[in-house]
Amino acid sequence: MKIAVIGGGWAGIAAAVELTAAGVDTTLFEAGRVLGGRARSIKLDGRELDNGQHILLGAYRDTLDLMRQVGADPDALFDRRPLRVVDNAGFRLSLPRLRAPLNVAWGLLAARGVGIGEKLTTAVWMDGIKRRGFRLGTDTTVAQWLDSAGQTGTLRRHLWEPLCLAALNTPVEYASAQLFANVLRDSLGSPRREDTDLLLPRVPLGQLLPEPAADWLQAHGAALRLGQRVRSLTVDDAQTLVDGEAFTAAILATAPQHRAALWPEDAAPVDVEPIATVYLQFPAGFALPFPLLNLPDGRGQWVVDRGRGLLGCVLSGHGAWETLSDDALAEALQAELGQPAGAVWHKVVREKRATFAARPGLLRPAWRTPHPRLLLAGDHTWADYPATLEGAVRSGRRAARSLLAG
Ligand SMILES: Cc1cc2nc3c(=O)[nH]c(=O)nc-3n(C[C@H](O)[C@H](O)[C@H](O)COP(=O)(O)OP(=O)(O)OC[C@H]3O[C@@H](n4cnc5c(N)ncnc54)[C@H](O)[C@@H]3O)c2cc1C
Repeated sequence: MKIAVIGGGWAGIAAAVELTAAGVDTTLFEAGRVLGGRARSIKLDGRELDNGQHILLGAYRDTLDLMRQVGADPDALFDRRPLRVVDNAGFRLSLPRLRAPLNVAWGLLAARGVGIGEKLTTAVWMDGIKRRGFRLGTDTTVAQWLDSAGQTGTLRRHLWEPLCLAALNTPVEYASAQLFANVLRDSLGSPRREDTDLLLPRVPLGQLLPEPAADWLQAHGAALRLGQRVRSLTVDDAQTLVDGEAFTAAILATAPQHRAALWPEDAAPVDVEPIATVYLQFPAGFALPFPLLNLPDGRGQWVVDRGRGLLGCVLSGHGAWETLSDDALAEALQAELGQPAGAVWHKVVREKRATFAARPGLLRPAWRTPHPRLLLAGDHTWADYPATLEGAVRSGRRAARSLLAG
């Protein structure tokens, strides 16, 4: 069996590793010069940084397992902490190291900046969602879901709205409540305390998976074709031709907008949402009190402390920020952080097509195509989740396992 994997993001990497580990002759095609796709290291003014801040959860089991498989140690590469949502307006919710679900109940009841009545109403609401298995009768927007549950107070603004934006990269006004409920199911609703943990990368993204995976794949005999954008894909009953080269089958693991050029039979248009990262370098002694800070009132929605005075400010989803110049964004964020003109260096990375918009009832492509010799992978094919690393990894492994099962 000789398999082609097209697209070397986290989905394609997962597929290629799975196939190679099973002894399959695997070729991974990646248009870029490095693996990683939308979660990769980039060079900015001589610094190795990320194309965007990536926050993982303890619930990302397949991702963590894949990292271990290629020799990357999550315990060393992540700063792992119990979930804490803290903002610069006085709100704070911290989960203690108690077993689940006590950790969530305690965290909610001890939250700072929220009245006891709202806490109790929310606890009852969350318990109801859990008892219904986090399944909504019909999908709606997160805003409508929260409205109908009476979630209109402090917790909405300081907890649910920022969590939704962080997880779905889609504002509550048009984000899917069901996808948000799925994220809550596997994090705050999980019976495992560790699933709620925040995993903050200690190293650039390339070192978490793409680079160790590239080394592992080559050491185990896989072929890496970096810098090769596949131009043609033909499938028939006997073989799959990738740029004219014959394979037994292929896994197409590109983002949807790139898939259409190769596989027009499934060219459903997908709305996308941007993400910008505004890097601000303060003097080395500068640090946030907790490495993840929410800015509920301003343009920056989350700020990640990357150590030694470097902050990565995240602007998720469409918004007025898109019209601002890089310098204006950097200035506005320094003001929001209470550090006007404090940064000694700044740089903005704009990912215009960061993720699909996680809208209610969004049609997701089937990962099986009419041809058994062609399967799809990628975050958008993992219908249970919004665009996440974990969805990407699971989709890649699923496609590979399906081919292996014959
Ligand atoms: C700024 C930003 C922040 C994010 N934050 C988070 C976060 O905090 N947590 C989280 O879980 N997720 C986050 N995400 C989402 C996450 O990065 C994606 O869900 C995930 O990386 C998608 O992986 P993928 O393999 O499905 O697709 P991609 O990463 O898009 O990979 C597809 C690959 O295919 C390649 N390709 C395309 N066409 C061809 C072709 N013709 N031939 C060969 N190669 C081709 C592309 O170059 C690309 O490398 C974020 C994304 C961005 C952009």
